[in-house]
Amino acid sequence: MRTPFICGNWKMHLSPEPAAALARELAAKLGDCEGVEVGIAPPFVSLPSVAEAIARSPIRLFGQNCHWDKQGAFTGEVSAPMLRDVGCDGVIVGHSERRHFFGETDATVHARAKAALAAGLQTIICVGETLAQRESNQTLEVVGHQLRAAVSGFSPEQVAACVIAYEPVWAIGTGKIATPAQAQEVHAAIRGWLGDLAGASTASRVRIQYGGSVKGDNALEILQQPDIDGALVGGASLKGDDFVRIVAAAGQKAG
Ligand code: PEP
Repeated sequence: MRTPFICGNWKMHLSPEPAAALARELAAKLGDCEGVEVGIAPPFVSLPSVAEAIARSPIRLFGQNCHWDKQGAFTGEVSAPMLRDVGCDGVIVGHSERRHFFGETDATVHARAKAALAAGLQTIICVGETLAQRESNQTLEVVGHQLRAAVSGFSPEQVAACVIAYEPVWAIGTGKIATPAQAQEVHAAIRGWLGDLAGASTASRVRIQYGGSVKGDNALEILQQPDIDGALVGGASLKGDDFVRIVAAAGQKAG
């Protein structure tokens, strides 16, 4: 049984004080999180204040990206060991906004994931097709390619330390969630590819999150699919009550 995992991606929202306030609200409302693993990924500058706010809660802290070197002349970047040093448990890599607005490639996503694992961070690797790719029936080809490139050369133990987030680009921030059948089809394919790469037993342990317009009122339907093990949540993670409802939906799946 895979523990459902809900992670909020706060993107470029919430400076240290309001971020800590939302984190405190979530810690109070979620309590022990009841069978669900919960993470939040504030902007870099808000990591220390949020770390303090959730110190006595099971909520886990995530960075939104990390560089592949430990340190150096890389203006604007943050390394995986630096994230660990401010209390992060994990990091998101390969988010479509990084790929599309900041030129991230399959190679840089792979390098960032490798560095994150080396630093002992749980690594959420995002993959997903654009609308044009879906409409030209390239979804499985695109997602399969992104996944294989991201985990290329990883041992089964390294693959097991990853979480895969399937996020169709056309569903992110648009209010257009994938249907449960559309999402399940890709999740099952991802699990199959993980099996080819790392063995069926490892593949059966990896959590595969869905991301794209998940909200409190649509989470349960999508989370009930057999290969959907949680959600990466953008917009709705900034609203305490909505995020709590999504975690509660995951709790229902956990049973
Ligand atoms: C995301 O950016 O990872 C995301 C899923 O955003 P939203 O929930 O707002 O669609």
